[in-house]
Amino acid sequence: MTQPSKEIDIKKLYLMTFSGAKFLITQQQADKITELINQGAKVIKITENDFMGVSDFRGIYNAEVVEDELRRKQGQWKCEYGNWHEKGQECGCAIAKQYGL
Ligand SMILES: [Zn+2]
Repeated sequence: MTQPSKEIDIKKLYLMTFSGAKFLITQQQADKITELINQGAKVIKITENDFMGVSDFRGIYNAEVVEDELRRKQGQWKCEYGNWHEKGQECGCAIAKQYGL
């Protein structure tokens, strides 16, 4: 379960590479990386142990968008209540709501 209280303020971002790696980064890191790319850096340090060649840089995306895309690839679907369901699973959210679950 996610904590909707504090963490909602912190925007989660994914840095994605063409080679398929993705890194969860902060807005601050995203700004810094964008700045470095604009300055013509060839290699960028993402984390303590991860470096990325700028030619491999695909983009920085809202984590929610990336996670939604992954779920859809796995065959999951989002119902009108905003919940994800497994492929072939029926939505029981209306009933759950009715009983206050
Ligand atoms: Zn549902």
